[in-house]
Amino acid sequence: MSHPLFDISGRTALVTGSSRGIGLALARGLAEAGCTVVLNGRDADRLTKAAAELPGDVHTAVFDVTDGSSVKAGIADVEKRVGPLDILVNNAGMQLRAPLLEFTDGDWHRILNTNLTSAFLVGREAARRMTERGHGKIVNICSLQSEVVRPGIAPYAATKGALKMLTKGMCADWGPYGVQVNGLGPGYIETELTRPLVEDEEFSAWVRRRTPAGRWGRTEDLVGGVLFLASPAADFVSGQVLYVDGGMTSVL
Ligand code: NDP
Repeated sequence: MSHPLFDISGRTALVTGSSRGIGLALARGLAEAGCTVVLNGRDADRLTKAAAELPGDVHTAVFDVTDGSSVKAGIADVEKRVGPLDILVNNAGMQLRAPLLEFTDGDWHRILNTNLTSAFLVGREAARRMTERGHGKIVNICSLQSEVVRPGIAPYAATKGALKMLTKGMCADWGPYGVQVNGLGPGYIETELTRPLVEDEEFSAWVRRRTPAGRWGRTEDLVGGVLFLASPAADFVSGQVLYVDGGMTSVL
């Protein structure tokens, strides 16, 4: 039997960007832990297919996390259809790789909106309700690039570094109202987002050499951290980023 501190059954969780990849794996983990789960993305068909793969009580919410009015309507609709949100995982994100001198204004705004503004918009709408009810857990999916950067991904790292500070700011503002806000920082995980890196044999081998665990991460590797941060075991944990990276951020 699991310890009651880790019991999150019966809670309602929204995971943004959960039509595939890390978001879908986290949603599956929350569903397996007994949560009612709401999947989010921009494509209704993709979400319906993803929902059919998960166990338990699973719902979908189609909205673009970068659009303030869609987010507002989307969160209100989720609470009306499914019930009060106990857990929010801000996971939706994207990567654009290009040298900084070639990065366009449009791409800068796109990556900033998708990776950072989205967490502010969705977090604010969820926290309006959570702070009123006096409890809630928010997990922002940061990155090992919240701490370190390589050539060609400066804008991505800037969004993820800022997301770390937004996490701490949310903790400061909403902590007094019973809402804990933390980050989870994945290392290199095999998904659509990293497909070009996985397919680059030289880079892929570098990741394996550079990671103390000696391998790429799998989406399932991230589930335990999110379940912990969403559980009563983390009631006094807030403003932290838990790096789940096989040790990569700790070594040169
Ligand atoms: P994927 O590209 O596989 O998945 C991204 C998800 O986000 C999709 O479900 C996509 O759904 C959704 N999404 C993108 N833009 C929007 C939007 N505007 N509104 C709603 N949903 C959106 O990425 P990963 O699973 O690899 O990454 C998930 C998160 O983890 C990201 O924040 C990423 O930065 C972070 N991360 C990933 C790492 C990795 O190695 N993979 C490492 C560190 C952090 P749809 O297109 O259907 O709308």
